[in-house]
Amino acid sequence: MKRVYNFSAGPAVLPEEVLKEAAAEMLDYKGCGMSVMEMSHRSKMYQQIIDEAEADIRDLLGIPENYKVLFMQGGASLQFAMVPMNFMKNRVADYIITGQWAKKAYAEAKKYGTANAIASSADKTFSYIPDCSDLPVSEDADYVYICENNTIYGTKFKELPNTKGKNLIADVSSCFLSEPMDVTKYAYVYGGVQKNIGPAGVVIGIIRDDMITEDVLPGTPTMCMYKTYADNGSMYNTPPCYGIYICGKVFKWIKAQGGLDAMKKINEEKAAILYDFLDQSKLFRGTVEPASRSLMNVPFVTGNEELDAKFIAESKKAGFENLKGHRTVGGMRASIYNAMPKQGVIDLVAFMDKFEKENA
Ligand SMILES: *Cc1c(COP(=O)(O)O)cnc(C)c1O
Repeated sequence: MKRVYNFSAGPAVLPEEVLKEAAAEMLDYKGCGMSVMEMSHRSKMYQQIIDEAEADIRDLLGIPENYKVLFMQGGASLQFAMVPMNFMKNRVADYIITGQWAKKAYAEAKKYGTANAIASSADKTFSYIPDCSDLPVSEDADYVYICENNTIYGTKFKELPNTKGKNLIADVSSCFLSEPMDVTKYAYVYGGVQKNIGPAGVVIGIIRDDMITEDVLPGTPTMCMYKTYADNGSMYNTPPCYGIYICGKVFKWIKAQGGLDAMKKINEEKAAILYDFLDQSKLFRGTVEPASRSLMNVPFVTGNEELDAKFIAESKKAGFENLKGHRTVGGMRASIYNAMPKQGVIDLVAFMDKFEKENA
């Protein structure tokens, strides 16, 4: 068996321990004679799996009683529509545009009402997070929306925007469980799990009780109402059973690492190894303003497209997969999510150093 260092932005690396456990339980989950994939979602055994997953994520994030945890499908992209369908009561919402995913969410919201772009970092190819301390928040805005970690551009909000009392809604797909998060700062926060938690197909939402309502935009499908998930323990219909089971295992793995404080410390160490190398390199450079750098996604370039292509090809041969940057940015991007071992980053930097010397 050969495992590579997988720097994919998503679907992304998962903890090896989790994959091994899932493999061991594949044919016979805890003596029940079947796989979790084959199990009724109405069975006691499955109820225990989803209940434990919920209890563990609550524990990890310290989610208060007045927030519900929802397990949904449709990717983060369906949330771009569900957010306005459920929350745009006045048909006005404010968006902070920090990259592709925020832009897509903003475009979707426009289908339902007036979406205002109240800040943007498009002027410098989204290489920074704008100052959000005093934004022109609309008086009748139903919410202020952000994409907290910008997977493609490698930026992260280090401070949440001042929403001037409006509800904050955030897409945390690519920084979910990478560090502690104060859930009470958000009215609704969600993430697709394929970046840092589990297999594609599952989306986890954390919603404050008062945001759960039947009073949604006319025509909203039942399956697109948060209330449907909240009222039915995320099992109005068949949930993505197997995906939730893997998420549950990842929650336990994070707990075993010491929880989110420990995760943050490890992630800071890993990111520092890579950023410190980039900052002293004469060949490679990071594309993001230092104050806005993400701990999870690290884009970098040589400034020469041919050299970039050579680096991507040679790194792949050396066992470093998926370092090619997003098609809209070019260059390289190393996604160093929770499950990327520190050794993977150390080895990558050693490889970059060698490449630099050979191509000086
Ligand atoms: C990947 C990603 C998405 C899109 O996720 P899908 O599950 O493919 O819809 C949205 N937002 C962020 C921040 C992402 O990283």
